[in-house]
Amino acid sequence: MENDKSRETSPAGDGRPLVRCKPIHRRQLLLRPVDVEKLAPEGHPVRAIWELVGTLDLKPFYTEIGALEGEAGRPVWDPQILISLWIYAYKDGVSSAREITRLCDYHPAYQWLTGMEVVNYHTLADFRIHHKKALDRLFIGVLGVLSHQGLISLKRVMHDGTKVKASAADKSFRRKATLEAHLERARAQVVQRGDPRLEPESQRVARARQRALREKQERLKQALTELKQVEDSRSKALAKGEKKKEVRVSATDPEARVMLQAKGAHGPSYNVQISTDAKAKVIVGVGVSQSSSDAGELEPAVERVEGNLGKKPEQMVVDAAYPTQEAIEALAREGIDLIGPLPERRKASWDPLKRRGVSSDFYPQAFSYDPGSDRYTCPAGKVLVFETQEKQGGWVRHRYRARLTDCRVCPFQAQCCPKTKKGRSLVRMEQTPELAAFQAKMETEEAKEIYKQRAEVAEFPNAWIKEKIGLRQFRLRGLVKVTTEALWACLTYNICQWIRLCWRPQRWVQA
Ligand code: SF4
Repeated sequence: MENDKSRETSPAGDGRPLVRCKPIHRRQLLLRPVDVEKLAPEGHPVRAIWELVGTLDLKPFYTEIGALEGEAGRPVWDPQILISLWIYAYKDGVSSAREITRLCDYHPAYQWLTGMEVVNYHTLADFRIHHKKALDRLFIGVLGVLSHQGLISLKRVMHDGTKVKASAADKSFRRKATLEAHLERARAQVVQRGDPRLEPESQRVARARQRALREKQERLKQALTELKQVEDSRSKALAKGEKKKEVRVSATDPEARVMLQAKGAHGPSYNVQISTDAKAKVIVGVGVSQSSSDAGELEPAVERVEGNLGKKPEQMVVDAAYPTQEAIEALAREGIDLIGPLPERRKASWDPLKRRGVSSDFYPQAFSYDPGSDRYTCPAGKVLVFETQEKQGGWVRHRYRARLTDCRVCPFQAQCCPKTKKGRSLVRMEQTPELAAFQAKMETEEAKEIYKQRAEVAEFPNAWIKEKIGLRQFRLRGLVKVTTEALWACLTYNICQWIRLCWRPQRWVQA
């Protein structure tokens, strides 16, 4: 009896008779019958998940199973169980295969799913990453169910991106020379491990160490390949006038990139792009990008939605990062109504003129433009005629130039164009027709009202995935694997929406 509270005197010291507490017995073995069916009561979400997954087309998951009836080999876990386990675990914010295995041991919902069996964590971990294509099909299958239930209309799709931390530390970022040195060391270690003079060790340990070294070598090789890609993109940025920065890549997750997080900190991350149908906040498209900027992500998002549901959204609502000139033109071509803030126009800078020694009296405002003849007249009364035009960020740059013969003999040349070899030039900026139409639309009250709804719809799944599912940091590494992990999270989110909005337990349906 471990908690026998019998005492000679009452613990309250008030002179009353001794207290009598209920004893507990820990040193015993019990055998109790378990009604597995009752581990998950009717209306429990685990039943909803099992029921929904059972109605979906799981053929792609079954085709890869090698264990066949009538042939040698152990039976495998049914994909319906493994999918349901992962969805239920993600729903509860559990993203670790080891944790699910532990939960299978005692948690009633997991025990109900597995029929009181425990699924090995290797099986769970392998299943999560090895079925990307089948998982894509499953995601589409769930969208089909939600569409059939009238939860998706594609009349208005809100799109947004969210940065999720990669499974790599800030300190894992290395320069090219350091990566090469590490790779050389890893190669030497692989050779050394083959030396028979080394202390003998069990075959299992030797194999594990050899595999770990091989994987490290592969990661370092990949890091050097990624570093080359980053260097190439930096050289393009340098050509556009950006500052030179030292290139580093993570030796742990070479495909992760340093991005600005929500609270202003920088860290290795991926950019998760989510498209949400406004009707019932269902996620209709998910992708992961290595770019820290959302510019350029709108067209791929539209393609993903079309690939998943067979048609394009009628309207896309986005924040200020997305409406680039290219995106505005592309969506106009596709007939998709784009709602979002206008792309910011870079402020006019007089620095280049200052550097060339041009006096402020001869800045562009000193020249008069005649739209009829499409010419400028300079302060000396000479004309500047149209020379070239180019598109830049939603604007067309029209360049005009004075005749060199006029400028050479001009008394103002020293102040107006001291170093020119071609005659004074200036640029007139004009909006492209697409940008002008977009600007006119965004000035209407209707467009402003639609845009006000964006944050509530677009940021809801982002917050839900981070807060409820706990996807603040990826567990997996590499673009393909983190995309799969993001897909599991979004699939779970959609199934939870289905449970919330559509599912009724069988008993209620029959009643
Ligand atoms: S330098 Fe050429 S452009 Fe400038 S004021 Fe004289 S003629 Fe006009």
